[in-house]
Amino acid sequence: MKLVFATHNQNKFDEVKVLLPASIALLSLTDIGCYEEIPETAQTLLGNAQIKADFVTKKYNLPCFADDTGLLVDALNNAPGVYSARYAGEQKNADDNMTKLLRELQDKKSRTARFETVIALNLKEQNIHFTGVAEGQITKRKNGQKGFGYDPIFQPKGYDRTFAELPLEIKNKISHRGKAIKQLVSFLRKNSYQ
Ligand code: IMP
Repeated sequence: MKLVFATHNQNKFDEVKVLLPASIALLSLTDIGCYEEIPETAQTLLGNAQIKADFVTKKYNLPCFADDTGLLVDALNNAPGVYSARYAGEQKNADDNMTKLLRELQDKKSRTARFETVIALNLKEQNIHFTGVAEGQITKRKNGQKGFGYDPIFQPKGYDRTFAELPLEIKNKISHRGKAIKQLVSFLRKNSYQ
């Protein structure tokens, strides 16, 4: 089966591809030639994921899933949340986002946080969604080169290294997206989408 993952982010695509059965031909937005900026105008992670999946399925007539992720920081009343990508501005720069977050947390006692991913799957005949959460804390400085986004400042619970310092196989096992993708894979298997 052909299945689109509505992303241009090669890092994310690679993370997800290794988790799916080989029988599923996973295509990115780049693979299908979709270069439009899909507006993420919803106020929730599910709303934004659904907008992206629906846009692709409608325009390209292909089953599609999209994810939306937020970093929720307790001491900041769950900010940046749904605004994580543009926390430090419309340029959506990961380094600027991390610098701003470290600054905002400078005087806070609590540094606990969680990543939450919602995946919306549009199979044309039905819509379904999955949620994955990874608990952890924000470090005091950026550590590590792997991964993307906020990885250098997020230390998952039970580990003494950030996501950016952990091998991808470990990140995939414990991450928000990894957990949501596992549910997606088991749904596809159970319903014989191969
Ligand atoms: P999006 O939903 O993929 O657009 O992600 C929203 C924001 O969260 C962006 O700033 C991403 O870089 C960041 N983000 C998403 N997933 C991860 C992750 O696994 N690690 C670190 N940052 C992430």
